[in-house]
Amino acid sequence: MSVNFIPTSMKLELNDQQKMIQKMVREFAEKEIAPIAAELDEKGEYPTKILKKMAKLGLLGIIIPNEYGGAGLDTISYATVVEEISRKCASTGVITSVHNSLVSWPIMKYGTDEQKKKYLPILAKGEEIGAFAATEPNAGSDLGAMTTTAELKGDKYIINGDKTFITSGPEAGIIIVFAVTNKSAGTKGISTFIVESNMKGYKVGSIFEKLGINASKTSELIFENLEVPKSNLLGKEGEGFKIALSTLDGGRIGIASQAVGIAQAALDESIEYSKQRQQFGRPISKFQAIQWMIADMATRIEASRYLVYNAAYKKDNGERFSKEAAMAKLFASDTAMDVAIKAVQIHGGYGYTKEYTVERLFRDAKITEIYEGTSEVQKMVIAGSLLR
Ligand SMILES: Cc1cc2nc3c(=O)[nH]c(=O)nc-3n(C[C@H](O)[C@H](O)[C@H](O)COP(=O)(O)OP(=O)(O)OC[C@H]3O[C@@H](n4cnc5c(N)ncnc54)[C@H](O)[C@@H]3O)c2cc1C
Repeated sequence: MSVNFIPTSMKLELNDQQKMIQKMVREFAEKEIAPIAAELDEKGEYPTKILKKMAKLGLLGIIIPNEYGGAGLDTISYATVVEEISRKCASTGVITSVHNSLVSWPIMKYGTDEQKKKYLPILAKGEEIGAFAATEPNAGSDLGAMTTTAELKGDKYIINGDKTFITSGPEAGIIIVFAVTNKSAGTKGISTFIVESNMKGYKVGSIFEKLGINASKTSELIFENLEVPKSNLLGKEGEGFKIALSTLDGGRIGIASQAVGIAQAALDESIEYSKQRQQFGRPISKFQAIQWMIADMATRIEASRYLVYNAAYKKDNGERFSKEAAMAKLFASDTAMDVAIKAVQIHGGYGYTKEYTVERLFRDAKITEIYEGTSEVQKMVIAGSLLR
């Protein structure tokens, strides 16, 4: 698929196909997601029905090539999909992001022909939801400290250890798992496996009660002599850390898009509310204090979106994009939090109640500064790339 986000001039604009996808997903999210998002959050209910509908539209296989049943779209289209979905439900947004960029992508990039043929069509059709299991209780920002082990015995790897904070953990059927195959080799001793939830020794642990993104179930995964066929090693033994980092580079474009979606929703709500709410005999939108907040919110969102498109554009063109993805995630997540705080302020006391969407957006925004690398980790990536 050709990408022409940036034509010959400096005008930054989505191409016709990207605009069409954005419009289609926006309409879908408005019709199918918006009416039930608050209820899913309230009940902590996984958006299974929404995901089924998204699968029919090809949104669970956005980046998967056509030959494996996917839509074969570029990263900018993918970013617009995650933004539009997150604008109505940030939980569904992160599930979509993890499924596409943390599960489908590493199989596309590092998988054997057999692995691609076996797993990509299932993921593209949404027959199984994907999860990415790297974090452990004592290995978060420092993923190299993981202690889950994988030992080759005959034609199987035997995996033992605990993973934590896994998005879609209780629901996923295909899980990308990282484990140590050679303890003495440090980060070069980590390997990656494609695990199926029905494999012997696989168990879902506790499901976390969270501040936000309540409809995306987050859990522990427990591996007790988990038996994984040797053929499910993804990439080579010892390549796991490299696979994790390169996968997370792309994942950060997804989370930055999620942050832009949350922020855009908070702005939309604030504009609407400020025009209606009357105090001192006129709409609060007539007060300069409110206008300045709206102006700052909109400006930061626009800047975040272009940082996302820039990182996505570089990825699609085969250029290095770690720094750009980290910048996009750092700035967009900070923007989401800042915009959500301002949105609650604009709503006054009502914004603090569950009657108004901004309360949920405020809770959902925070996670974008934490997962797939905290803001501090993004700064380490950016500085590391500049000071090399
Ligand atoms: C809702 C949710 C969903 C998640 N989904 C997934 C998932 O699907 N798969 C998965 O593998 N993981 C997932 N995670 C885990 C997430 O990626 C980690 O929580 C995150 O990377 C931070 O790790 P930690 O929580 O162990 O914090 P820590 O690494 O302990 O960090 C604590 C604090 O110390 C700071 N810090 C750490 N090291 C440094 C340093 N060197 N310099 C400066 N500051 C530093 C951090 O920035 C942070 O502020 C999820 C987490 C949550 C909460």
